[in-house]
Amino acid sequence: MLLLVMPEMRTAKQALFIVMVFFLYLPPATLASNAIHGESFVQLLKNKAENYGWKDLRFSNLPWESHRRSNGGHPLVFVRLGEGSKSCVLFLGGVHGDETPTVYLTFALAQYLWEHPEMIRGKCVVIAPLVNPDGFFSHPMTRVNGRGVDINRNFPTRNWRREAHKYWRTKVKSIPRYYPGDRPASEPETLFQMALINRFKPNKILSVHSPLNFFDYDGPSTDLNSFEKWLKKIASEANHPLRKFGYYPGSLGNYAGNERGIFTVTLELPSSNPGEANKYFQRFQKVFMKFIDLPVRGIPPHAHCENPGS
Ligand SMILES: [Zn+2]
Repeated sequence: MLLLVMPEMRTAKQALFIVMVFFLYLPPATLASNAIHGESFVQLLKNKAENYGWKDLRFSNLPWESHRRSNGGHPLVFVRLGEGSKSCVLFLGGVHGDETPTVYLTFALAQYLWEHPEMIRGKCVVIAPLVNPDGFFSHPMTRVNGRGVDINRNFPTRNWRREAHKYWRTKVKSIPRYYPGDRPASEPETLFQMALINRFKPNKILSVHSPLNFFDYDGPSTDLNSFEKWLKKIASEANHPLRKFGYYPGSLGNYAGNERGIFTVTLELPSSNPGEANKYFQRFQKVFMKFIDLPVRGIPPHAHCENPGS
């Protein structure tokens, strides 16, 4: 108790009080992001960014939200930007944990839009830049999540029970990195993406992958021709090939594009080299902005959407 009356400690207490008041008056979003992430997640991101030379990324100044965790306990984070309530567009990065530059691109996009709100006035943009943190933070990094499941084969598509395991055994020879899970939607990272789709009802989704080097797309058949025309033009402008790769049991293209009629673009970057990440962002930033601006017609999406909660 004696210590409390010492003048230097009173000064320290006053300083602490000032710091507390300062934090209380921070915008709620910043406070929320600190409270949700904890320093360790942000620090893990910063360490990775430093290793990869991603000097321009800041992780803690955006209004990140997180309501779920991975099997390894990492928060599954997203940010909602823009004031608009209609026509949300959803960007996904780091679905496969070893596709490193995809994480940079989606974090960089979030940061760019946060710093340039005029670019998305009246629009709604939702970005989940690290869907599979367990794969991204593991040593070595893995495509699959913390329980060895390929998140892009785990969506509860109508053909999952009939075909997911059959497809895995016959088409990809039971290679572990494509394992679809023991049952559909068994993984928190899958439920996370389903919850984002359910909550924000996006009419466009862009998921960034690597290193297959093409654009692929799925969407409502009524509007697919005009969408294909648009994407052909975009692909030619970005000098990036367009391929109709098709979809799989449990893949996002199947779940969102085929079954829910949401225009779903997969951008496969040319490599998984983290050193190329900034170059790729410079190259595809225009594509992202055009995708945000693209007006969408066609059937109302989410006709068959379940309600997995937020
Ligand atoms: Zn991938």
